[in-house]
Amino acid sequence: MLDDMPSVKPSPTKNGGAADGIDRWIVLGGAPGVAPPGVEPLRALLNTDDRFHGVDALEAEAPRAFVLLRDALRTLLVEGDAGPLAGIADAHPLRLVVEQGHMRLAPTAEAGPVDAAVAGMLVLLAEAQSSGEWSRLKACGNPDCQWIFYDTSRNRSGRWCSMQECGAVMKSRAYRRRQRTADGGEAPR
Ligand SMILES: [Zn+2]
Repeated sequence: MLDDMPSVKPSPTKNGGAADGIDRWIVLGGAPGVAPPGVEPLRALLNTDDRFHGVDALEAEAPRAFVLLRDALRTLLVEGDAGPLAGIADAHPLRLVVEQGHMRLAPTAEAGPVDAAVAGMLVLLAEAQSSGEWSRLKACGNPDCQWIFYDTSRNRSGRWCSMQECGAVMKSRAYRRRQRTADGGEAPR
């Protein structure tokens, strides 16, 4: 294997580094709400659309396919609508690789680097879906944040990327709303 691009990824996943090519656009381990290694690349891609800071890390130069994939993942995650993703999946077939009795999904051999990276992310998505880890990814309930975090709560009830920050902001907002109502101000509805 030639050294193409340095990877900061610890790479515990066994997808043959299929996410290579997208590595330069995503930052793994961005707190809060870091996900387990197999899911973290998906979360990192989603968070390239950083709505808290109003920064889109893919906006300027990243391949269009990465933007489409990211936005399709958010639509799936937030709206439960798999439609946009289905189109991307159709355009990125996977193959089953058998090595020494072990099997894994991988991009097709003829896929170029961008398509291979997209396909590699689809492999991670399929694995996260079947492991149930996908359902722990959530968008922060603070509308000014919407950061994608991994919910580690036992009953999957987490609503904020961080209790200290967004949790506190949203709770004090709710408190003020209740105060206004109690003071005889306009009721919120
Ligand atoms: Zn948040």
